[in-house]
Amino acid sequence: MIEVKELSKFYGPRPAIDRLNFSIQPGEIVGFLGPNGAGKSTTMKIVTGFMPATSGTVTVAGFDVFEQSLQVKRNVGYLPETPPLYFEMIVEDFLKFAAKLHDVPASQLKAKVDSALERTGLTQVRKRIIGNLSKGYKQRVGIAQALVHDPKVLILDEPTVGLDPAQIIEIRELIKSLAGQHTVILSSHILQEVTATCQRIIVISKGKIVAQDTIERLTTQINQGVIYGLTVKATETQGIEAIRALKSVAHVDVSGNKLLVALHPDQASERDQIIQAAVNAKMGVLDFALERRSLEEVFLELTHEQSNGVAS
Ligand code: ADP
Repeated sequence: MIEVKELSKFYGPRPAIDRLNFSIQPGEIVGFLGPNGAGKSTTMKIVTGFMPATSGTVTVAGFDVFEQSLQVKRNVGYLPETPPLYFEMIVEDFLKFAAKLHDVPASQLKAKVDSALERTGLTQVRKRIIGNLSKGYKQRVGIAQALVHDPKVLILDEPTVGLDPAQIIEIRELIKSLAGQHTVILSSHILQEVTATCQRIIVISKGKIVAQDTIERLTTQINQGVIYGLTVKATETQGIEAIRALKSVAHVDVSGNKLLVALHPDQASERDQIIQAAVNAKMGVLDFALERRSLEEVFLELTHEQSNGVAS
């Protein structure tokens, strides 16, 4: 549904995005995750046809964003970081106006607006002035204007920024409910946002894609095998060496009376042997547990590695 190839954008001499490649299948909800300044908004603006690229190609629903921008705009709904709302307008009038901008025929206007109001939970407030709505409801109007013409693709840039926790949950639920009906790209600098709503994430840092995969596979891939934590009364060298010598063990780090035992990826675990080696060396095993790294740590590591490698 979306194909991005070798996409770059320079503002002056510096690339804001640098040779991005990714593709998104119909019906997918994909999170575009990266710290502030990573190049998310720049990418979203180019994919929606709002800004030209310096080089590279983008197709949306089979149309070239640069050559066939009208067809692309018909197939894309876009919620920019700052929603394009007219605060003095009435909700349903504004949605009619947004639908007309997207070439919805007059005969379909009412049905499309009703459907957008219903899907975003705005039917009760359809006659209200936008400026008088709460921030969460204003954001719903922003999403409604993005989907009023029933586009194949929805692009939402930081859709929950500035909302309170209850509103954040509501908007996330709303986005999830759009799955299947639209292909969705959601950009965010908040990891929880994408894990709560998306099936797949593309991680971007300093204008480059540093990872893209399903959330589960990304965690496993970066984990590079399992790590066990072994807490002992005494760290005996002989026991540590015996553990290091095990086939599945990649390395052992010792910190105080705790051993961090990292296994090689794709190796069958030798848990019993690790414990046995510690018992044989009379280390006095107090605790043995799987150390899970959170996706937060994975994200920080990915974006940190990238920022070390690129001059800013
Ligand atoms: P994000 O959305 O991930 O926060 P942006 O795409 O807004 O990142 O910005 C990526 C980089 O491009 C940043 O370094 C930002 O300062 C720079 N940038 C964005 N817009 C402009 C602009 N209009 N002119 C110059 N630099 C810009």
